[in-house]
Amino acid sequence: MKMIFLGPPGSGKGTYASRIGPKLGIPHISTGDLLRAARDDPEHGKTIRHYQDTGGLVPDEITIAVLEKRIGQNDAKKGFILDGYPRNTPQAQALDKITDIDTVINLVVPDRVVIARLSSRRQCRKCSRIFNVLYLKPKKQGICDACGGGLYQRDDDKPEVIKERLKEYEKNTSPLTDFYRKRDIVIDMACNSVDIPPEIMVDKIMKSLKEHGKI
Ligand code: AMP
Repeated sequence: MKMIFLGPPGSGKGTYASRIGPKLGIPHISTGDLLRAARDDPEHGKTIRHYQDTGGLVPDEITIAVLEKRIGQNDAKKGFILDGYPRNTPQAQALDKITDIDTVINLVVPDRVVIARLSSRRQCRKCSRIFNVLYLKPKKQGICDACGGGLYQRDDDKPEVIKERLKEYEKNTSPLTDFYRKRDIVIDMACNSVDIPPEIMVDKIMKSLKEHGKI
């Protein structure tokens, strides 16, 4: 199972992929997390910080190299879920050269929902798990349920940067649904409510994967 989660920032890609990966026994690979972990890299750290902090796309040569290295690791041999990659057509073409994708889950979420979610989102510094102070509260305030790490608000979840990220998504990433639709591998999943519990969406996605004969 080689799967991509497509959808705007705040659509739930990371939240759902991190729960579905273990159910299917495949890793959840987020290029946002991989790039955040490389922010202190002596060669590319400065460039990564610049683009992440302003809501733009990190240059393709850096992102593609990071992704290719991760996909080449042993645990990804049997499959993976990509979250946040590809984000433009050149990245999708680069991916085609490395591997064959069999399923694309396209999360269809209105702007008002993603803006509401992103502005109250928190992420674990240690394991990257996503929470929300309004809609997906941790059991203990400021502490990750999964690993006990501290939660923080990402700089790019501030209103000015959210706007840039949504523009970036519309311009470069949303055309990718058509890129994959031509191959007949896209499953659309609508989510119109800001506070739908992740477990409900995860069940819906799993059901849909079964109905489409993917699992
Ligand atoms: P995310 O965690 O997926 O919201 O990504 C956070 C930020 O990391 C994005 O706004 C980009 O600056 C950068 N990023 C993540 N994935 C990619 C990608 N595939 N291509 C370029 N930049 C990326």
